[in-house]
Amino acid sequence: MNFEQVRIVLVNTAQPGNIGGAARAMLNMGFTRLYLVNPAAFPTDRATWRAAGAGQLLETATVCDHFDQAIADCHLIIGTSTRARRIPWPLQDPRTCCQQIAAEPPQRQVALVFGNEQHGLTNHELHRCHQHVAIPANPAYASLNLSAAVQVLTYELRLQILAQQNKPPLPPAPEHPPDDPPATSQAVENLLQHLERAMLGSGFLDPAAPRQTMTRMRRMFSRIRPDEREVQILRGFLASTEKSAKPR
Ligand code: SAH
Repeated sequence: MNFEQVRIVLVNTAQPGNIGGAARAMLNMGFTRLYLVNPAAFPTDRATWRAAGAGQLLETATVCDHFDQAIADCHLIIGTSTRARRIPWPLQDPRTCCQQIAAEPPQRQVALVFGNEQHGLTNHELHRCHQHVAIPANPAYASLNLSAAVQVLTYELRLQILAQQNKPPLPPAPEHPPDDPPATSQAVENLLQHLERAMLGSGFLDPAAPRQTMTRMRRMFSRIRPDEREVQILRGFLASTEKSAKPR
C-alpha cells in the first residue's frame, strides 16, 4: 500500500477555510490527492491561507460536480460519519479501518470521504461506501471540525501504512555519546564523607544530634547510582563552598 493510492474526498464543503485546513492536514501526513465535490467556493484566498505550505494541493485538486465522479475508479470507499445511521452499515473505529486500508494491494484506489459541515454525508453518499468509520469522540459532542476529522484519520492511516511497509514512524534517535561509567563504591564513600564534613563545617549538621541525615543521603545516592562525572561535580562544588566559607 502506498500513500498515492489514497484520495481525500470532501463533499459539499461549505467553509473555504476547511478546504485549506484539510489540505494542510493531509499533506502533513503524506497524502497529496484532494478531491472536492461541489464546494461552496473554490478557489479562495481563505483556503489558500489556511493551507499554508500545502497550497500546491489546492492547485492540483480535482473538482467534481457529483460525488459519483470522484469515486468512479475507486476499489474501496470509506465514508466518515459521527454516528451510526438508520440503516446499519459496517461501522469501524479509525484504527481497525486504517489497518484494513493499509492491507490493500498496490494499484487499488482508496477514497476517504468527508461530508458537509452541517449535514455530514447524505444517505446516498453513505450507501456508496463499503465501510463507515467514526472517530470515537465524546458522545455528548462527537462532531469534529472537518479538517480536524481529516487530521485524525490521515494520521491513523499514515501509521498503519508505515507499519505495513515495515517503516518506523519516526527516524531512529541519533546516537549520543555514552554516559560516564557509574562511580565506584569508594568514590561515593569519599563523596559522603566530604558532604558530611561540609555539613558539619557550615553548621548545618549538629554533631551532637546528627539524626538520620547521613543515612538518608547514603540512601539517596544508592537510589541514584551517580556516575563518575556527577560525583566529581559534587566534590568540586563542596570543595569550592568550603573554600569560600573560610575566613580570608
Ligand atoms: N452534523 C454532521 C456533522 C458533520 S461534521 C453529522 O452529524 O454528520 C463534518 C464532517 O466531519 C463529517 O461529515 C465527517 O466527515 C467528519 N467528522 C466530524 N466528526 C467526526 C467523527 N466523530 N467521526 C468521523 N467523522 C467525523
